Amino acid sequence: MMAPNANITGDDLVITSITAKDMRWPTSLGGHGSDAMHTDPDYSCVYVTINTERGVCGNGLTFTLGRGTDIVAMTVKALSYLVQGRNAGEIFLGFGQFWRELTSESQLRWIGPEKGVTHLAVAAIINALWDLWAKLEGKPVWKLLTDMDPELLVSTIDFRYITDVVTPAEAVELLRQNAAGKEQREKELLEVGYPCYTTQVGWIGYTDEYIREKCKEYIAKGFTAFKIKVGRDINSDIKRCKILREEIGWDNKLMVDANQIWDVNEAIEWMVKLAEFKPLWIEEPTSPDDVLGHATISKALSPYGISVATGEMCANRVMFKQFLQADALQFCQIDSARIGGVNEILSVYFMAKKLNVKVVPHAGGVGLCEMVHHLQMWDYTSLSGSKEDRYVEYVDQQHEQFINPVVVENAHYMALTAPGYSTELKPEAIEQFEYPNGSEWQRMFNEGIFKRKE
Ligand SMILES: [Mg+2]
Repeated sequence: MMAPNANITGDDLVITSITAKDMRWPTSLGGHGSDAMHTDPDYSCVYVTINTERGVCGNGLTFTLGRGTDIVAMTVKALSYLVQGRNAGEIFLGFGQFWRELTSESQLRWIGPEKGVTHLAVAAIINALWDLWAKLEGKPVWKLLTDMDPELLVSTIDFRYITDVVTPAEAVELLRQNAAGKEQREKELLEVGYPCYTTQVGWIGYTDEYIREKCKEYIAKGFTAFKIKVGRDINSDIKRCKILREEIGWDNKLMVDANQIWDVNEAIEWMVKLAEFKPLWIEEPTSPDDVLGHATISKALSPYGISVATGEMCANRVMFKQFLQADALQFCQIDSARIGGVNEILSVYFMAKKLNVKVVPHAGGVGLCEMVHHLQMWDYTSLSGSKEDRYVEYVDQQHEQFINPVVVENAHYMALTAPGYSTELKPEAIEQFEYPNGSEWQRMFNEGIFKRKE
């Protein structure tokens, strides 16, 4: 156990309750978030609140697309007996072990293990605990991680199944090796922030005119990298990519995202046809579980200068390990609401660093931008020390629902100073959008705007 820290010690850190709310927003009405596979998402989340006797609470979430959010919330409830009544400070000082307890619950693990609904539920709980920890220390999560003693940080990770790539001792060493210049990088984050790209220009449900309008808007905001959804129809993709290049020119970067729609060979053939538009990467060309398929695609597209990006639906650190080992991706897209929350995501950063792959986080949805920019900022201050060809995704959705949302200026996420993980929803957001009894949902049901399908 690590040296006690006054902020996270005390009997009053007993967790008195843990709740999980089903929160949904009607984004399908505007086609926001639509892609080749997810044609009508209603951006949603399971919102977990962990209360302590001290009165400080932690909020965390996992992202969902509408239906099924209640199933994840139910799973949080099934795990809550492992959280309620525990001392939060003791959890933090043995966080790796606690994470293993949650993910290895002897009966619930049968409906995972470490994947799918059970792992989403773990992520929401773990993210709420990090918000709590940061609030207790009076720091934003990026700063909490940046200031943390390397041994303590590494002790939060469960290294089971990944020590063939990185061990705890190596992870500590990587942090020590990259400590030089940390203060300067921190200062720079506070001054200019961390670069982002936008996906707001290219949802598949958007019309050509709307795409042009959005491109102009984001260019005016200083963006230099743009992502568009592909995979529904090759002729339509060619037209849309053409529009993008007409609007953004050839000096700015273009990325394309197929959201898992293709078979391996189909992905290669399709992308060869889009190669003339010089996309930096093809994202999620095929099944998120197909490590060797991604490797094949990656090899075939390399002569065209197209890289492969994936990770937003990667199940866990073991899958990430294989993708990284197999040269199956060149851009590693961690997602803050998936795998087992912050602790497991940190392990992916260490593996990516060791194997020399860039991390470019997935974001958007509800709260994903809020959370993940903290992690990428820590990576910059403490591990990779580099922003080269690295961005955090940015989508302008649902930020207004949060008390301390992200701040984006000149296409950069600004470093926040408010304590926590930026995950606390406004009380009115809960009053309006908790499903199905929130006031906005009741109104939409009554007016026939939405049919309740669960
Ligand atoms: Mg994507």
